[in-house]
Amino acid sequence: MAFLLRYFVVMALIIIIVPGIIVLARGWLMPPPEQLDSPRMINLFLTGTGQIVVLPLEEYVAGVVAAEMPARFAMAALEAQAVAARTYVVRRARKFGGVGCGRHPLADVCDDPAHCQAYLPPSALQLKWGLIDFSGNMEKIQQAVANTAHQILTYRGRVIDPIYHSTCGGRTEYAEKVWANRYPYLSGRICGFCTHSNRFIEQKTFSPAEFLALVGQEGGAILAVRDLTRRPSPIEILRRSESGRVKELRVGNRHLTGTVMRGLLGLRSTNFTIVATRESVLVTTRGHGHGVGMCQWGADGLASAGKDFAYILKFYYQGVSLASIEGR
Ligand SMILES: [Zn+2]
Ligand SMILES: [Zn+2]
Repeated sequence: MAFLLRYFVVMALIIIIVPGIIVLARGWLMPPPEQLDSPRMINLFLTGTGQIVVLPLEEYVAGVVAAEMPARFAMAALEAQAVAARTYVVRRARKFGGVGCGRHPLADVCDDPAHCQAYLPPSALQLKWGLIDFSGNMEKIQQAVANTAHQILTYRGRVIDPIYHSTCGGRTEYAEKVWANRYPYLSGRICGFCTHSNRFIEQKTFSPAEFLALVGQEGGAILAVRDLTRRPSPIEILRRSESGRVKELRVGNRHLTGTVMRGLLGLRSTNFTIVATRESVLVTTRGHGHGVGMCQWGADGLASAGKDFAYILKFYYQGVSLASIEGR
């Protein structure tokens, strides 16, 4: 009798419990397939391989912060960058009502910093930082992402376009001075917090011939070298924006925009001055980038002065609110 009882108990174990364990184990080991359709996943186009990868939104945000900002920056600056990076992808991702990356129709965003945002996977970050710094840096960035989990920026209830740049050089720029559209939250303001940036001031010296050859690319020769030192100077800044960035200048009898000149001379921004002498042409540039939205070095300056990420974001994006993506 005891033998029979033991037999039934063992059989019951085999028939009922073992399959149950197998099913549970499968659940633990493999994510349920519906997770791929969860709104927390995003499609990212990788420029290097031409492939689209699907990855968790918060993991993507960490890879953007690591690629877009030095890991040594103060925690509140990394947190502000995490919120900006998350807001950027939520505004574009189709699952949140966005139109995706304009260049790669099947992706929400691409990893080209000239188009969407830079992103680096852990393997590339190991190369960038080296194995010794990798775990410490990654832990710090993941902390910044976790501290701001699910938070994005809105203006009057709508997700903003959180434009940012390296160093404003003293004043951020109004969006409409760089692009056609006006965004109330992307207004210019005085930023005294990026003076520690290694891109705050840059000086470039060209030989007169070199300078004229570069500028001449925009439609042929403009001046002879001897003309550069004429008085009044043949190089004249005609118009600057309120923030000091060159809108229009004249070289000889040719008129150029500050943006075209920036491209021809390979300058970091359009906030420049040009002094020509017989020996050289000295170009001094302030800041790095278009100057619109958050100044990343300024964010670090504010964070080092004790400001939190909400203060930093509201300083550079005027009139915005922090909101959660939960329920969106
Ligand atoms: Zn893109
Ligand atoms: Zn600044």
